[in-house]
Formats: sequence, C-alpha cells, structure tokens
Amino acid sequence: LKGIFGSPFTGPFESKGEWALARMDDLINYCGRASLWPLTFGLACCAVEMMHFAAPRYDMDRYGVVFRASPRQVDLILVAGTVTNKMAPALRRIYDQMPEPKYVISMGSCANGGGYYHYAYSVLRGCDRVIPVDIYVPGCPPTAEALLYGVLQLQKKIKRARGGQLWPMSVSRQELI
Ligand code: SF4
Repeated sequence: LKGIFGSPFTGPFESKGEWALARMDDLINYCGRASLWPLTFGLACCAVEMMHFAAPRYDMDRYGVVFRASPRQVDLILVAGTVTNKMAPALRRIYDQMPEPKYVISMGSCANGGGYYHYAYSVLRGCDRVIPVDIYVPGCPPTAEALLYGVLQLQKKIKRARGGQLWPMSVSRQELI
C-alpha cells in the first residue's frame, strides 16, 4: 500500500504525505475487474456475436477485456455456443488449467441450458453441469450488447467480492462428471 498510495514513492499515485488504506482483497478486485482476459470458447453461432463484441463497433478492449489463446493466461472463459457431451470433458479440462481467481460467462441459450437442442441426445443441457458459471447471458443468440452487459455485471460482481468469495473454489472433475 505504501508503494501505491503513500508518499515515500514517486509515481502517479503519490499523495504528498497523505495515506489511503484499503483491504488487499479490495485492491486486487479493483485491478482485476478492469483487466479481465477471457479465453474464447466459441462453439457455434453465438461465437459470431462474441467476435462482434471484440470488433471495433463495441471494442471490448476499452474495458480491459483482451482475448488470450492459452488457458494459462486468462481469468475468464466465455462459453459461447452449443456444448456437446463430447466437448464437455475438454471444457472441464481447460477450466482446470486456468489459474485462480477465474470466472465463467455462459453465453446463449445453448450454453445456458441446451437451448434449441435441449432434447438432443448429444448436447449437454447447460455448461454449468461441468463448470461453475458466474454470469448467464440469455438469448439465441445474445447480441453483442448483451454480452457487453454481462461483462459489466461480472465486473460489478468482482468488485463486490469479499474474502472467500474472491477466490471461487474449484470443484474437482470427479465431483462434476
Ligand atoms: Fe446458436 Fe442460438 Fe445456440 Fe447460440 S443459443 S449457439 S445462436 S442455437
């Protein structure tokens, strides 16, 4: 805290002898919510709106949201599209490879609960059957604006997180599958 807000160090937060105290949890949340790096998990038509969200019209970069290709470098996964039973173990494995704290946005009716394919034998009825979901974005497909709203809601949720809620517990694969 001294290095960030106190006077002994120079920098953009120097406060000329004044002090600001904060919980470490709050500082981590404050910084983390403004730099969410999502892993793309585009599986079907919803992924087109997800790409739209990334394109210049909505420009998700201005919210600190920057897609990464490796699960080792992300703290958010966007599940966009139809999750089949065959894809479910891969989704869980990728989720397990993400470092804590990590968050999940389920985008669209298919990812939320099977959607149009709810009664298909090959489709998982919701990605929350294999990974814990923080935000559900409804629609078939949800618009890019709806996804943007979901990301903003996740940022609010992270800002409000306290103590144990900050670090969501990982549930082992054996417990879920
Ligand atoms: Fe396609 Fe609709 Fe399913 Fe999205 S919710 S993947 S748009 S069928």
